[in-house]
Amino acid sequence: MECIFCRIVAGELPSDTLYQDDEVMAFRDINPLAPTHVLIIPKRHIAFLSDLSDDEVSLIGRMVGVANKLARQEGVAEKGYRLVIGSGEDGGQVVPHLHMHLLGGRRLSDRLC
Ligand code: 5GP
Ligand code: ZN
Repeated sequence: MECIFCRIVAGELPSDTLYQDDEVMAFRDINPLAPTHVLIIPKRHIAFLSDLSDDEVSLIGRMVGVANKLARQEGVAEKGYRLVIGSGEDGGQVVPHLHMHLLGGRRLSDRLC
């Protein structure tokens, strides 16, 4: 298995895991860009957001639900946070396993990119 996030899901690589259920897992980013920087991923390998079929998009809703819960748990919900999903090269996606970034704990740039 070459995918690093699949290896984290399988327990082959360590992670600072904050949440998991049958479909979704969340762990702290190894190179945090903000005081709170959590990655929310599907346990199943889906490389890109663009690979999601129409009947799979509810997975993103589940990931948002987990992100909202963790934002409250991390104490950033009130002041605000940002959820980011990049898809593909121009989207800035480096790890080809679908993931959502939860960023908070400081004032993020007004610029989106
Ligand atoms: P991308 O740039 O693909 O949207 O984000 C990938 C993220 O995964 C980066 O923020 C990077 O720091 C994080 N990352 C890469 N490898 C690992 C790892 O082995 N463990 C954890 N926890 N995060 C990782
Ligand atoms: Zn994977």
